[in-house]
Amino acid sequence: MPELPEVETIRRTLAPRVRGRTIREIQVLEERLLRNVEPEELAAVARDRRIGEPVRRGKYLVIPLEPGAEALLLHLRMTGRLLFGPPEEKHVSLLVQFADDGPPLRLVDTRKFAMLYLIPWSNGVAGVAGEAVAEAGRSPFSLPEGFARLGPEPLSDDWTVEGFWQRLEGRRQPIKSLLLNQEVVAGIGNIYADEALFRARIHPLTAAGEMSRDQAERLFAAVREVLAEAIAWGGTTFRDYQDAQGKRGEYVTQLRVYGREGEPCPECGTTIELLRIGGRSAHFCPRCQERAVREDGRGSGGGGGNNSGSTLVIGLTGGIASGKSTVLRLFREAGAETLDADEIVHRLEQPGEPVYEEIVAEFGREFVRPDGSLDRQALGRVIFADPRARERLNRIVHPRVIEKLQEEIAAARARGTPLVVVDVPLLFEVGFDRDVDRTVVVKVPAAVQLRRLMERDGLDETSARQRLEAQWPLAEKVRRADYVIDNSGTVDETRAQVWELVQRLKVEQTRV
Ligand code: ADP
Repeated sequence: MPELPEVETIRRTLAPRVRGRTIREIQVLEERLLRNVEPEELAAVARDRRIGEPVRRGKYLVIPLEPGAEALLLHLRMTGRLLFGPPEEKHVSLLVQFADDGPPLRLVDTRKFAMLYLIPWSNGVAGVAGEAVAEAGRSPFSLPEGFARLGPEPLSDDWTVEGFWQRLEGRRQPIKSLLLNQEVVAGIGNIYADEALFRARIHPLTAAGEMSRDQAERLFAAVREVLAEAIAWGGTTFRDYQDAQGKRGEYVTQLRVYGREGEPCPECGTTIELLRIGGRSAHFCPRCQERAVREDGRGSGGGGGNNSGSTLVIGLTGGIASGKSTVLRLFREAGAETLDADEIVHRLEQPGEPVYEEIVAEFGREFVRPDGSLDRQALGRVIFADPRARERLNRIVHPRVIEKLQEEIAAARARGTPLVVVDVPLLFEVGFDRDVDRTVVVKVPAAVQLRRLMERDGLDETSARQRLEAQWPLAEKVRRADYVIDNSGTVDETRAQVWELVQRLKVEQTRV
């Protein structure tokens, strides 16, 4: 997926080709692209508007529409590319025609994960999400959650060693996961996190809060160096990424550890290893990136790094009706402490809670039952049939649930609970995999999942399928998981797997 250097390269190659040109027409060929606006509405807003100077913020691209107070906000996700290529190109999601009859701009996206928002944007504001947030109240178009919460730009003066050092404090999470958290610092993805950690000689599993000041300073500098170099090379292309001129990113030739597992380390010749952390791969040199707690570290880990008192947090997920609640119960039986995101949502949606009030204000009193409680079934029917309604609901509910879960996890860590399992249905979709130490995905064949969902919730096949399609495909979750529980057999068979996993995790818990 394009990270900061790739999006920056796209911005630089796109800017001279679109800046100052007037849009004649925008055609949406793939509706999934649009997150907060209807195709007709987008077309009407964009018609006859001039394109301003494109701006990058984290992995987002902002294309201002002038004159006025809106911009297109684009996240290319896995395979999105902006091209002026030949018209026969397949997988075109968006087509922008210009009044000058010059070459049209296409968004080409084979996997169709790209996201486009129409957002409030003040005239001439350069690259500051805060400005857009301040404007949000005055425009009918809202900001995506992730954009509003972006952390500082790593290549700007907004990001400082001191600010970074403060964000590390008290965090038990592996530093690798923290670097991927867009709220800590914007724009870093898997490639540049691994490269920066290698350059700073820091093991990716090092607890963020236990790093020394010296390590933090090295990492801060390494992040900036790696990103700046990658921009100079036009980004990194593994498969799909191309800039707006159709060129591939040559930084792939400069990578030292990313994608090089099994090869000798360019510094010391030791074989580069691959680890899974929070559902993502981590490439590192076990010799250059030794995992020692520094003497000047502020860690509580006790010298040799054997903090047997620490907590291992497991994020549990899977498809709807794959058996997450069932597996969570089995974890509880096996002695783990458990947290359930759905249960928290239930609590937050009780009358009188701010989330309840916001939902009623947003969706109307018709979703309130005579006794004052929220009619979740009715709301469910609406949001599973309409992705934009779902996005509106998520924007209210998700930040609150995430905050609550983070609080509860922090409390469990403070109590010294050895093993905590958190059931989060949208673990990967909302990026909560970065808040946990390991991920577990419950897997069942699609037919079994569909049958259990229809039976449990009394749904017909169409509604059941709609619900399944509102999440990432199970296969994608399985691909990202650290551990997979196969729940296609009997509950007893599943129980045996859970107990065995708990034994393994106990061993890891004493090592983490
Ligand atoms: P989720 O929490 O993932 O939505 P549940 O744990 O509620 O899923 O499981 C969905 C349905 O399938 C429930 O009715 C549950 O009792 C049933 N179920 C779960 N695991 C099994 C299993 N191994 N065998 C038979 N039924 C199961």
